[in-house]
Amino acid sequence: MPEYTVMAGTLYLVATPIGNLEDITLRALRVLREVDLIACEDTRHTRTLLNHYSIKTKMLSYHEHNERERAAELGTMLQTGGNVAVVSDAGTPGISDPGFRLVNESVARGVRVVPVPGPSAFVAALIASGLPTDEFFFAGFLPARMTQRRARLAELRSIDSTLIFYEAPHRIRQALTDAREILGEREATVARELTKLHEEIVRGRLSELIERFSAEDSARGEMVLLIARARIEVESASNQPEADIATLVADLESKGLDNRAALKRAARELGLRRSEAYRRLVAERERRKKF
Ligand code: SAM
Repeated sequence: MPEYTVMAGTLYLVATPIGNLEDITLRALRVLREVDLIACEDTRHTRTLLNHYSIKTKMLSYHEHNERERAAELGTMLQTGGNVAVVSDAGTPGISDPGFRLVNESVARGVRVVPVPGPSAFVAALIASGLPTDEFFFAGFLPARMTQRRARLAELRSIDSTLIFYEAPHRIRQALTDAREILGEREATVARELTKLHEEIVRGRLSELIERFSAEDSARGEMVLLIARARIEVESASNQPEADIATLVADLESKGLDNRAALKRAARELGLRRSEAYRRLVAERERRKKF
């Protein structure tokens, strides 16, 4: 059971618009007006929102580079009775944005933490994507470096849910290409500039989206990438990564590669070292022998 410190204030996590300034709740506006301080990622950015609604509350910067010190500073203020709202540049704080550390700090100090829900880009993208919404896996940003990105995709390959990523426009084509290679052909959606003037929701197979986003100027703005669960693979392969590599090696061998070349290629596609790929392959072949 949480124990709140009697004299402590409240930490409000306030969701703000992801583009359209009308996407803010009445409660969010009231909280932003009433708190002692608004901790925001970029004070210039939040000022536009506050000015629009004639809110004059004091602001303080709270971003990934000062999160640690600020969390302690704000924690003390909260503990001694101050009320603080946290906002990010867009959407829900704590979702691929600062917030988590201050929530932890507040919980540890017995400060009440109150969510003030509202927009989040991944939820808006998911509900409009046309992909299944019953189960989804939000994976945040994919790593920027190719090897890590492919390894991450390989980890997510057996997840039987709609996969959701945030992605930068200059990396979308590469992310789609890697996804096509590692996850196979799947249905996908790119939701771009949601709630803004140039909002666009592009649906299709991964290979179609690669083509669509190959032109430089088609890859502008903020984007969410959603990829459907695999249809066939999930039924045939078990959820173990060993099964993935064995299936992939067999598939490559059936296309004419010898065992060595197939293993090398499979390791590269799954973002694994060759020794690890070999270990998994042997483990899976042993497992299959038992059945
Ligand atoms: N906290 C935010 C939320 O709740 O959605 C996410 C912050 S994250 C740093 C920023 C990323 O969210 C962008 O790179 C983009 O992938 C996605 N995003 C934010 N606004 C968006 C919009 N209007 N349309 C599409 N994607 C958006």
